[in-house]
Amino acid sequence: MTEVRNVIIIGSGPAGWTAGIYTGRADLHPLLFAGETWEGDQKQRFAKKLWGGQLMNTTEIENYPGFPKDLGQKLIETMRDQAVEFGCEVVMARVTEVNLIEHPFRVTALGKDYLAKVVIVSTGARPKMLQVKGENEWFGVTPGISSCATCDGFSYRGGHVAVIGGGDTAMEEALFLTHHAQKVTVIHRRDQLRASKIMQERARRNPKIEFIWNSAVTQISGNTHFQGLHLKNTKTSQERDFAVDGVFLGIGHTPNTDLFKDRLALDANGYIITDPRMQTNIPGVFACGDCVDHLYRQAITAAGMGCIAAIEAERRLVEYNETSSSQAGI
Ligand code: NDP
Repeated sequence: MTEVRNVIIIGSGPAGWTAGIYTGRADLHPLLFAGETWEGDQKQRFAKKLWGGQLMNTTEIENYPGFPKDLGQKLIETMRDQAVEFGCEVVMARVTEVNLIEHPFRVTALGKDYLAKVVIVSTGARPKMLQVKGENEWFGVTPGISSCATCDGFSYRGGHVAVIGGGDTAMEEALFLTHHAQKVTVIHRRDQLRASKIMQERARRNPKIEFIWNSAVTQISGNTHFQGLHLKNTKTSQERDFAVDGVFLGIGHTPNTDLFKDRLALDANGYIITDPRMQTNIPGVFACGDCVDHLYRQAITAAGMGCIAAIEAERRLVEYNETSSSQAGI
């Protein structure tokens, strides 16, 4: 018979590992599915790590309290070691199916079923990509392409950076980058911004920000060194190279929640809906981190949510165990 675990955690970013640390420390012997290890040849410079979430593919982290300067990868590995130390079991595999209708819940990975009384979803989000040549190679490389000005903006102090997009994220990234860069060019595919009026006005008023309208990025350029972008005017079809020190993608994020479509309540953009206790619409299923949060998207906020989910999961297990004991006449 398949063992019924107390807690299964799906996802290995800051939210997942924090949930692993807390439920591990509560002696719940959590099982965490971390995702697959690598895409591409790991000896190559541009190979991407598939487990550990977005921090694994950024460079330095300087805004995680207590870690004044650390590599994203090292921060995640430290969190993992801390969770494992407290008895969190880790499976390096992607979950391919979940059944949250029947209890205990069922989670499938590598063709094997796992059962759990409580599930914590921390599958994160991924930045939307332009899908152009050179993008995969330079993404997460500094100098190169980033999707987080808060994380990587400091590396471009005194430089010239481009922000792609016309929504609130792009405006926010551009405004933040003016603290570091000498010049910020927002490149938008139309001649009207989608961003809220207040964000538009702030960006337009900032003397360090300039706009290039009606322009689509068709290629990211660089050989041994990052060079910039190739642009195509969407009205005239005219093409040109545009040299910059770094590029920030501000074209939105996609939550990694395909697995939960028709299984959990999602908002119109695919983010999992929870209450302030990280409880989803299914009692005993919690969600935390960037798969829930489209506003802050920081390692520290994700970790905070992972902590809440773990504490609530523990409470739920106490209730569950009390109910099953009384049902069994104990
Ligand atoms: P949005 O979907 O609002 O905007 C995405 C922008 O990227 C659009 O301008 C879009 O162009 C452009 N874009 C999308 N795909 C491509 C592509 N392939 N090539 C070039 N450009 C592209 O996403 P955001 O992340 O900006 O915002 C998401 C939500 O979060 C919104 O509701 C926003 O208001 C909110 N938010 C709020 C903030 C705040 O209040 N401080 C900060 C950040 C986000 P087009 O306009 O032509 O479609």
